[in-house]
Amino acid sequence: AKEKGGNNFQLYHPEMNKRSLHRLNLEIHLRKAVEKEEFHVYYQPLVDLGTGKIFGMESLVRWKHPEWGMVSPGEFIPLAEETGLIVPLGSWVLKEACKQTYAWSLMGYPRLCVSVNISMNQFHQPNFVQLIEDTLRETKLHPSQLCLEITETVAMKNVSYIMETMENLKKIGVQISIDDFGTGYSSLSYLKKFRVHTLKIDQSFIRDITVDEDSAAIVTALIAMSRKLKIKSLAEGVETPEQLRFLKDQGCDEIQGYIFSTPLAPDQFEELMKKNKLL
Ligand code: C2E
Ligand code: CA
Ligand code: CA
Ligand code: CA
Repeated sequence: AKEKGGNNFQLYHPEMNKRSLHRLNLEIHLRKAVEKEEFHVYYQPLVDLGTGKIFGMESLVRWKHPEWGMVSPGEFIPLAEETGLIVPLGSWVLKEACKQTYAWSLMGYPRLCVSVNISMNQFHQPNFVQLIEDTLRETKLHPSQLCLEITETVAMKNVSYIMETMENLKKIGVQISIDDFGTGYSSLSYLKKFRVHTLKIDQSFIRDITVDEDSAAIVTALIAMSRKLKIKSLAEGVETPEQLRFLKDQGCDEIQGYIFSTPLAPDQFEELMKKNKLL
């Protein structure tokens, strides 16, 4: 086996080689998949803790490869971002989610709000606001029924551009939430600047709230801060009754997690809506 140190390391190390081949293979397949639209959108219910009812859903993309079967977004979203394929893929997911939500409106659920993940790469496309407007017009979905989930990243450097885009999005009437809150950068400073609607507290904090005092303290503080700033708080990845109890006691507004439901195919989501399951 080769040792570290030489320039040859990257070229000849068998593991590295396997990895880059795997990556290349994945990229080729991903490109084809985007062309052939081999993706599906699943929907995970978002629950209002005040009413115990579903008020919306997060759209989560799934790749059903003809041979490999289901590929999870954790495996291909990072590559899609690196290669720029997230731009066409993200537009497809956005349109699909809006179409589906409009269809559900007609079926008797007129106030469901769909959350769509937007990567910074998409957000920085020069025609991004136009894309949102066009998609809403084409799918006939009411703007108030669309929420864009934006993750805080290092890419949030260009504050004036982001602020302008956020303002234009708000003029259209869509909602904005900050995803994975607490895991990124300079969170607090721009929370005030951007005036978002919802703060999604990352599941890494929720996971330990009932066993780790620090996580509990952070989540308590984030919920209190959201309330003061008049931003809704949503806890991600809620799995246990103990976590739910804690979040209710702290006055968290909304939750998402396996305790209520995993992400569902559209027909499964419809079934759940019909039962109108309460938490
Ligand atoms: P995310 O936006 O933070 O989405 C939440 C993830 O947590 C989802 O994973 C969901 O299935 C999972 N989850 C929900 N409840 C629970 C729970 O109670 N316990 C645990 N352990 N996990 C839970 P998923 O669907 O595998 O997606 C992973 C990530 O991929 C997403 O994280 C998001 O960053 C990205 N992603 C998914 N769809 C899209 C998309 O259409 N566009 C973009 N840009 N990113 C996407
Ligand atoms: Ca998300
Ligand atoms: Ca998240
Ligand atoms: Ca996440």
